[in-house]
Amino acid sequence: MKLDALQDALNRETQSGYRAKTISASTIGHECDAYIAYNLRGFLRAPRQARSQRILDLGQTLETEVVRALRAAGLEIDTHQNDGSQHMRTAYNGLVKVLCDGLTTIDGKPAILEIKSANKSRWTDLHEYGLELHSQTYWMQCQLMMWLFCIKQCLFVSYCKDDSAMHVELVRYDEFDVAWAKHRIDGILEDRETHRCAAEPQDWRCKACDFRQYCWEDKADLLNCRQCANCAYEHNSQSLWCNRNNREANAACDEFACWKPQQNNYRRQAT
Ligand code: SF4
Ligand code: SF4
Repeated sequence: MKLDALQDALNRETQSGYRAKTISASTIGHECDAYIAYNLRGFLRAPRQARSQRILDLGQTLETEVVRALRAAGLEIDTHQNDGSQHMRTAYNGLVKVLCDGLTTIDGKPAILEIKSANKSRWTDLHEYGLELHSQTYWMQCQLMMWLFCIKQCLFVSYCKDDSAMHVELVRYDEFDVAWAKHRIDGILEDRETHRCAAEPQDWRCKACDFRQYCWEDKADLLNCRQCANCAYEHNSQSLWCNRNNREANAACDEFACWKPQQNNYRRQAT
């Protein structure tokens, strides 16, 4: 193989986009309502670059190493269910789904285990300021997992990819944060004021967003009613209701209009 061809192959996009179709623990703390809604509505994510995929794969590999180190330190961890799958819980008729890295015990009480890895600068920020200040996304991920597993503490572990240092932190269940998450989930399911986090496409948060083309450009995605602006989930139901045809939204029709989030009115409008 020629060296140039090898470099090209390593840079090529490796994974076509996928459709999430749920709200996960890792998205509920995302600052953008629209991002969560695009996931829930099953919009096709942008293809993942080979480099990004390798970062994710490395994170998975490191998780195994962290579990090994924690066990060697004396912690008992149950990482999988009897059928070999990850521990999982669902709510809202399966529209909210959480997976955890393991179940363990701290101070004689059950705890969720959540493992991340980070570069030195992010790891140091976490280590100095603690999880709640470091990342609302990770913090809310832990809260959602604790709520759905009915476990009131979460052992959060972060592995530093530069020097293999480990940060461990016990996150406590916060009922106010969980109430906020439930309120947010209700609003997104029922499509009540699902806003963009940004006021303009140049916003740094939108630059690498998987849904940028739907959100700010004219790209439309039609798989089924799920991507249509005329429907929303009925309260506490898995069914989508079409407000235009006044029926369950289970078959797309000619009146399909691609769903769009609402403009963020709290910041400067895009020009
Ligand atoms: S492009 Fe920006 S505003 Fe739109 S979903 Fe992504 S992060 Fe949110
Ligand atoms: S039935 Fe037609 S208008 Fe209603 S949600 Fe489906 S595609 Fe949209």
